[in-house]
Amino acid sequence: MDDRTLSGMFPFLKSVSYLYRGLSLKDLFSSTAYSDARTFAYSVIMKNLGEGDVIYPPSYEMKYLGYHMVRMILAYLNDKILTGRVAIFFRDYFETNFISIDDREVMKRVSAELDVEIMIQGNEFSINVFDYISNIERLGDDYRLFYQRLKNGYVIFSGKGSREKVTKILRESFYRKFIESVESIESIPEEMILYYREELARIKEARDENISKYSTVEYGDIDEDSFPPCIKEIIKRIMNGENVSHNARFTLVTFLKQIGFSGERILEIFRNVPDFDMRMTEYQVKHITGEKGKTVYSVPKCSTIELYGLCVRDKYNDSLCRKEWMTHPLIYYRFKKRSKGSPGPQDSLDGSDMAKKSNNNHE
Ligand code: SF4
Repeated sequence: MDDRTLSGMFPFLKSVSYLYRGLSLKDLFSSTAYSDARTFAYSVIMKNLGEGDVIYPPSYEMKYLGYHMVRMILAYLNDKILTGRVAIFFRDYFETNFISIDDREVMKRVSAELDVEIMIQGNEFSINVFDYISNIERLGDDYRLFYQRLKNGYVIFSGKGSREKVTKILRESFYRKFIESVESIESIPEEMILYYREELARIKEARDENISKYSTVEYGDIDEDSFPPCIKEIIKRIMNGENVSHNARFTLVTFLKQIGFSGERILEIFRNVPDFDMRMTEYQVKHITGEKGKTVYSVPKCSTIELYGLCVRDKYNDSLCRKEWMTHPLIYYRFKKRSKGSPGPQDSLDGSDMAKKSNNNHE
C-alpha cells in the first residue's frame, strides 16, 4: 500500500505529511484545485451539526487535506462538543479502514503512530500492556485487564474477533489524539479566515442554530460558576428582587433548561421575583421549555441577547466574551467548564456513515 493511499485512509499519519509539503494555505483555502477537500471539510462539520450529508472526495489526497482543514475549522470554532462529535465521526472512519487492511507492516506502522505497540503472529495480536491500559477507560467490562490473557508484558488476543478488539483499542487512542491535535492548534491560519470567510460564517450560523439541540448529557454536570456573565447578571437581578423583562426570563429559562436544570429548580429561582405567581410562572416555564405546546425554544445567541440589551460583556470586561468565536452563551458555558477540567464529550452521534462510505469511495 503506497503512502498516498495511506494518507487518505489514515490522514493523521505524520509519516505521510511529506507528500503535501510546500502546499500553501492560501491555495488550500482558495484554489479550485482543492475545492473537493474544502467541500469535504465543510460537509463533515455541517453533518456533525445536524445539517446535510458528508460529500466525499474521490481522491485520497483530498481526503487527507479535508481532514486537516476540519481540524483547523474546529480549532477556530473552539466548540468542545462539536470537536468531540467530529472525533467520533473520524474515529469510525479510522476503524473501518483499519479493519479493511491486510498488510501487517501497515497495521504496525499505523498503530505505532497512535502510540500503541502491537505485534502480530498469524491470527494472534499482542498489545503492550501499558498501551492497552491507557486506552480502555471508555470501553466496557469485557476489556478489563482482569479478563485478558497476559504474556511477557503483552495482552494477547487470538481467535475469532481478535482483530476487531485490537481495532477498538486503537480507535480509542485515535479519538484522544484527534482532540489533542485540535486543541494543540494555537494560531488560527489567517488564510483560512480570509479565504474561507463565507463558509466559516455559514458554519457559525449553523452552530448557533443547532447548539440548543446538543443533549444535556453533552453539557455534563451543572456548574454554576461557569455561567456566562449575561446569565449570572439576570440571576443576580432576580435574586435582588428586580422584575426582569420577558426577554431576560426567556433567555434564562432556555439556558438553564438546556444545561440540565429541572423545571422545579428553575421555578425556585423565580420565587424571588416580586410579582411571583406560581401557577403563571410554572405555565411560562413549561411553555418555554416545550413541556407544554409543541415548540421547544432555543437559547438566544449572543447577537440576540445584545439586541435585548442583556449582554454585559463591556460591564464586566470579560475576556472570553471578547473572543471572535464567542457567539453563544452555551459556548461560553461549555468552554469555561471544560477549561476547569470537566469530563470530555460523550459519544452522542453515530459517525459510522463516513466509515461505510469511505470504503466505497476508495480508489
Ligand atoms: S458576549 Fe454572549 S455570553 Fe458574553 S455576556 Fe454577552 S451575550 Fe452573554
